[in-house]
Amino acid sequence: MSRPLRTLDVAVAGAGFAGLSAAALLARSGHRVTIFEKFETPQSIGAGILVQPSGLAAMRMLGIDQEVLRRGDRIDHLFGVTRRRWPVVNVRYDKWQPGSFGVGLHRGVLFDSLWKLAHSCGVKVVTGHEVRELQALQDKHDLVVIADGSRSTLRQQTRLACSDRIYPWGAVWAVLDDPKREHGSTLWQWYRGANQMLGIMPTGVAPGRDVPVVSLFWSLHASRYAAWREAGLDAFKRELLALNPACGPLLDQITSLDQLTWARYHDTVMPSYHTDRAVVVGDAAHATSPQLGQGTNLALLDAVALRDCVDRADSVPQALERYTQLRRRHLHFYGQASRWLTPLFQSDLRLLPWLRDMFMNAGCALPVAGRLTRQVLVGVQQGWWPGQTLELSPVLPVGEQPVPVAGEVGT
Ligand SMILES: Cc1cc2nc3c(=O)[nH]c(=O)nc-3n(C[C@H](O)[C@H](O)[C@H](O)COP(=O)(O)OP(=O)(O)OC[C@H]3O[C@@H](n4cnc5c(N)ncnc54)[C@H](O)[C@@H]3O)c2cc1C
Repeated sequence: MSRPLRTLDVAVAGAGFAGLSAAALLARSGHRVTIFEKFETPQSIGAGILVQPSGLAAMRMLGIDQEVLRRGDRIDHLFGVTRRRWPVVNVRYDKWQPGSFGVGLHRGVLFDSLWKLAHSCGVKVVTGHEVRELQALQDKHDLVVIADGSRSTLRQQTRLACSDRIYPWGAVWAVLDDPKREHGSTLWQWYRGANQMLGIMPTGVAPGRDVPVVSLFWSLHASRYAAWREAGLDAFKRELLALNPACGPLLDQITSLDQLTWARYHDTVMPSYHTDRAVVVGDAAHATSPQLGQGTNLALLDAVALRDCVDRADSVPQALERYTQLRRRHLHFYGQASRWLTPLFQSDLRLLPWLRDMFMNAGCALPVAGRLTRQVLVGVQQGWWPGQTLELSPVLPVGEQPVPVAGEVGT
C-alpha cells in the first residue's frame, strides 16, 4: 500500500496545454507548483483544434469541460470527399457511442480556461522566463515537468533517447467568420490525390468575440511554400474553388496571403519519458502530424496520468516510472498511426491516394474496420486490434447531456 508523497516543489517549463493542465492538477493535489513560460504575455494563437472524446474526458477531470463546450462547436461528423464528390472519409462519432461528439475549438478558448484554472489552483506563474538549463530547475525542485512543445530544447538535456524529425508537408491556415454557421457540425475535407487537401472546421467562437468562426486549412509541401506565395492570392483561391466551389464566400474574407499562417509539424518518439526527477510531456515528448487531431488530447491525458501517478506513488522516481509505463502504448500508437496515415493525405504519391479513394470508405463500412477507425478517431486506441483500448471510464462525457454550442448560449 503506497502512502501519498509529501508536498513537492514542482517546476513546469512551458505554459501550453500540457504544462498548464499538469501544473493545475499537481497544484490541486497539494504540491507547490511554479510554471515558467518564455513569453511575457502567453496566449495561444493558432488554428482551431479538434478535441476528441478522450480530450473531453480529461477536460472534465480538470473541471473546464462545460466552460469550453459553451464556446466550441459540436462536431458530429468527419466527411472527406474527392473533387468529384466521391466519399473517402465518412465517420460519425455517435456510431462509436450514442451521444458522443468531438468539439471544434479556438485554441485561445482552451488556453484561457487552463490559464484561469492554473491561477485558481494556486500555481505560481512566471512569464518572460525562458528555461535554458534543466539542471538549474532540478537543483531547486523535487520534480521538473518539461512541457516546452514540439521544438523542445530541454528534452535533450535529459539525455533520454529521442527521435525527432519534421514532416516535409505542413499547412497554411486561417480562422474566418461564419456568422450563419453554414458549416454546421461537420468537419469537411476535400482532396485531389494526396497533394491537395482543403479542410474547413467549425471552431466555435474566438476569445473576446461572439461571432462563430471556422478554421480553414490548406495542405502544402514545405519546399513549395515560397512558390505558393509567389503565385499570389488569386491563384490560391482558384485552386480552392476548383476543389470546393462553395467556399467562395469564405475566401472573400481573405484579401492577402498574410492572413494565412504557415505551420509545420514534428514527429517525435521517445521510448521513455522520464529520469529520476524530470518528465517530458505533451508535444515535447510525442509531437505528431495533426492528421488524426490528437495532439491536444494526448497532452491533456498526459497531465491527468501524471497527477494520478504522483498521487499514488511514494517517491518521485516511482511515480515517473509508472507514468512512462502508463502512457507509452497509447502515445506510441498515435505516433505510429499518424505517421502511417499522413502520406495518404499529404504526399506526392499516386497509387496510395488512388487506393484510398477506391477502398477507404468502403473498408471503414466493414464492422471490425469501422469500429477500429472510430476508436482511433475518438482517441482511445492503443494498439492495432479493436480490443486494445484505453480505459477512460468513468469520465468519458458521452451521451449524458445535450451540449450547448457556441452561439446558442450567452457566451
Ligand atoms: C496546424 C496544426 C493543427 C493542429 N490541430 C490539432 C487538432 O485538431 N487537435 C489536436 O488535438 N491537436 C492539434 N494540433 C496539435 C496541438 O496543437 C499540440 O499537440 C498542442 O498544442 C501541444 O501542446 P503543448 O503544451 O505540448 O505544446 P505547446 O502548445 O507548443 O506549448 C509549449 C509552451 O512552452 C513554451 N516554451 C517553449 N520553450 C520554453 C522554454 N525553454 N522555457 C519556457 N517556456 C518555453 C512555449 O512558449 C509554449 O507556451 C495541431 C497542430 C498544428 C501545428
